[in-house]
Amino acid sequence: MDFIVDGSYFIAAILFIFGLKRMSSPVTARRGIVWAGVGMVLATIITYFHKDIHHNYVWMSLAILIGGAIAWVTAKRVKMTDMPQMIALYNGMGGGAAAAIAAVILMQEKEISITLQVLAVFGALIGTIALSGSMIAFAKLQGLMWKTYRFPNQQWVNLFVFLVTLIIGFYITFSGTAYGMGILSIFFILALIFGVLMTIPIGGADMPVVISLYNAFTGLAVGFEGYVIGNPAMMIAGIVVGSAGTMLTQLMAKAMNRPITNVLFSNFGDGGDGKIEAATGSMKEIDANDVAVMMAFAEKVIIVPGYGMAVAQAQHKVWEMTKLLQERGVTVKFAIHPVAGRMPGHMNVLLAEAGVPYDIIYDLDEINEEFETTDVTLVIGANDVVNPAARTDTNSPIYGMPILNADASKNTIVIKRGKGTGFTGIENQLFFAEKTNMLYGDGATAVSELITAIKEL
Ligand code: NDP
Repeated sequence: MDFIVDGSYFIAAILFIFGLKRMSSPVTARRGIVWAGVGMVLATIITYFHKDIHHNYVWMSLAILIGGAIAWVTAKRVKMTDMPQMIALYNGMGGGAAAAIAAVILMQEKEISITLQVLAVFGALIGTIALSGSMIAFAKLQGLMWKTYRFPNQQWVNLFVFLVTLIIGFYITFSGTAYGMGILSIFFILALIFGVLMTIPIGGADMPVVISLYNAFTGLAVGFEGYVIGNPAMMIAGIVVGSAGTMLTQLMAKAMNRPITNVLFSNFGDGGDGKIEAATGSMKEIDANDVAVMMAFAEKVIIVPGYGMAVAQAQHKVWEMTKLLQERGVTVKFAIHPVAGRMPGHMNVLLAEAGVPYDIIYDLDEINEEFETTDVTLVIGANDVVNPAARTDTNSPIYGMPILNADASKNTIVIKRGKGTGFTGIENQLFFAEKTNMLYGDGATAVSELITAIKEL
């Protein structure tokens, strides 16, 4: 039976790897999810036959039923725009589950080698930090708490809590006995507190980096605990998620143009101590008919989607409008900022869902030089990712972040509902610029008006 169990875990791990590979392209991503899901079902079922289960079938089944039911209902009900919070929440659960496994291992009487002890404690630490940190990320994305929260000597307090947690971790690792609830509880509580302290000051536009970092933490924690209990599925899945999360963190930090240490340990994200430059001038309104004429007779149009397009679920209309423009001989390209929306790849997912071909979707690096030669840039529900303050205002929370150069194009049209700010809550000088016109309205309604107007030309 052991052979079948281990073999099944191995097959599950292979399914995870193939699933993840398929998730790297929007064309195959849906199938990738199914593959990984089949792997997870297999790993869950085969666990019932594992020799260390000690007939805890009732508890296991109850946990699966309760967890599965909650996940099923929430996943069915969640709005697309709330997906990032949900991912943060479930990512945190993964870290917590790894930490719970570590707690059980550390409380057992069974002697384990020092290497396994180190991995168990380290996995417990990062899994617990990922749990509480992700809960704070969830609360921020859900609008349940302030984006940034600071207090005097915060970094020193953080360092102190971290060092004490680490010292207790060392003690647990090297004192070589089984632990009761006492010392372990202190260790876990401090790690939870550290996760909270580490996340509350990070806000502004840096959240994507933090979310990816906790994703990496959770993966590594699961991988370490998988190694400790000798479970190949956990080990491989954890390491795959851990390394993918680490790469994503690097990509996100690069997109923000900040080293990861700056995101975690400096005062980014709150606008610094100085005053943010106020926007000057006035916003000029334009109607859909005029925008339709500008675009229909343009040579090149770049569309910049942002979080507002996700809120409006305007992606299908946007693709319909794009096809009309293409039929008239206009070159249309999509420019995607790496942190547009509320989760990594958010815009790519929406455009893929609408059927926009990948060869007209460009990353920031690929397209930024083209704005200068573009007749019309249509910004749909994007704000922070096209905010020129990132280049000039050293006090701005997004200072240093590369932005899409929408302001360089010959004309810029911005679709948004009113004067609302973006995630960072700051004004955008682009909206007041000479070459910019505002088409006010909900993203889907405004694009529908454009479609009607283009058809009538
Ligand atoms: P922003 O959040 O900066 O701006 C969105 C804009 O959309 C708002 O100004 C809003 O203005 C407008 N809007 C909202 N609803 C609608 C609607 N129904 N129709 C039309 N417009 C609408 O979006 P960006 O994509 O430019 O930037 C993303 C921000 O989120 C960045 O700061 C990023 O760091 C942050 N972030 C990103 C994450 C990621 O992983 N991608 C994760 C967490 C945060 P109005 O109210 O006037 O309509």
